[in-house]
Amino acid sequence: MKNRLKYDVVVVGGGVAGVAAALASARKGKKVVLIEKQCILGGLATSGLITIYLPICDGKGHQVSFGISEELLRLSIKNGCQRKYPQPWLEGGSFEEKAEIRFETQFNPYYFALEMEELLKTNGVDILYDAYMFKVTRKDDIIESIHIDTVDDIKEIKANSFVDATGDAKIFNLADIKTRNYEKGNILANWYYYIRDGKLELKKFGTVEKTEYIERTTGEVIVKDRFVGGDYDSLNHFIKAAHHESLTEFTNEIKNDSSFEVVAIPMMANMRMTRCLDGEDKMILNDDDPYVQDSIGVVADWRRRGYIYEMPFSALYDPKLKNVFAAGRCIKTDDEMWDVTRAIPACAVSGEAAGIAATIYAEEKEIEITVLRDELKKAGQILNIRDIYE
Ligand SMILES: Cc1cc2nc3c(=O)[nH]c(=O)nc-3n(C[C@H](O)[C@H](O)[C@H](O)COP(=O)(O)OP(=O)(O)OC[C@H]3O[C@@H](n4cnc5c(N)ncnc54)[C@H](O)[C@@H]3O)c2cc1C
Repeated sequence: MKNRLKYDVVVVGGGVAGVAAALASARKGKKVVLIEKQCILGGLATSGLITIYLPICDGKGHQVSFGISEELLRLSIKNGCQRKYPQPWLEGGSFEEKAEIRFETQFNPYYFALEMEELLKTNGVDILYDAYMFKVTRKDDIIESIHIDTVDDIKEIKANSFVDATGDAKIFNLADIKTRNYEKGNILANWYYYIRDGKLELKKFGTVEKTEYIERTTGEVIVKDRFVGGDYDSLNHFIKAAHHESLTEFTNEIKNDSSFEVVAIPMMANMRMTRCLDGEDKMILNDDDPYVQDSIGVVADWRRRGYIYEMPFSALYDPKLKNVFAAGRCIKTDDEMWDVTRAIPACAVSGEAAGIAATIYAEEKEIEITVLRDELKKAGQILNIRDIYE
């Protein structure tokens, strides 16, 4: 492969948001490359074993997220599903039945990852695995290229536009655009799969807060109830504490039950919020006013039935960098909304919009919000809450 490459659109990060962005752009005829530092697509949803596709409905019988967000949910269980099969939604159930059960599912991470790869390949997306983006070339308000480190060489990739789907706003951060860390801190988590009595189970390790972790190698007690995202020391403490706490749990389980066996642990730190784009016009959680002028899709609050929000285009964008669009868990939000927009279905919504925005920018060198919204509607997305309840 050459050391200098040229594409219409570069997507960095192959999590759910990056997959949605690359797919949306390729379907509009763009030459797209997706850069992923690991050897599998899906990010936290697959490598991180976060295998629950949270709801794309409002919990009261109405679907709220459509387009690629729905497509990926269906793809995630194409080869079967382990739990929470949303039968009424998939098999023509009544409105009352849909109001009972949310349109969400559990999925197998490996089937999902491989299916996403096939989908992107079929749509003409080039995927570069084992490629770490470590540098950007910025000229004024434009990113001209990104640089990736690969097994044989460093490569420069030029493009007309870029999607930052890194999960931690790495392109924006490297380009000296304002980003922020999750200062409130993450609770320790390390989801894993195990077998007990021959039955496969997912353990959602880390939904309850603990305050004390022991560093295994030094025996030092680390009293740290929260781990700041976007901070390297904190990330390393998080990973080691997660490993140690998990091993302690495994050892106890095995002692008490010889049928217990661990079959998969996360290959990605289970940090919920790390670093995101910052600045004006962020997406704010306001239950009294969930409407915005520049909506690019509607997302549901997975924690509470009946709460849904319009997602503003401004959350994907910084005016100081005209050809880069954020997608997924690193879009511009306040802390409360971050907990909503980081969910897998919302990542797919922002991913699809970022992919279409990058496509439009690659052609027009500007984004006209009405054009973006028209394209998203054509792709099947519903953009305003009023259209869901009409
Ligand atoms: C403990 C925990 C529980 C959760 N529970 C749920 C849940 O039940 N349901 C739900 O829907 N959501 C849940 N979430 C949230 C959800 O899993 C993630 O927020 C979502 O999957 C993020 O998708 P993403 O594409 O934005 O980012 P990521 O999945 O983080 O993907 C980013 C990708 O970019 C790649 N990358 C990053 N930097 C570079 C670089 N410099 N060069 C190349 N590649 C790079 C990474 O390798 C990764 O593949 C949970 C998260 C956690 C941590």
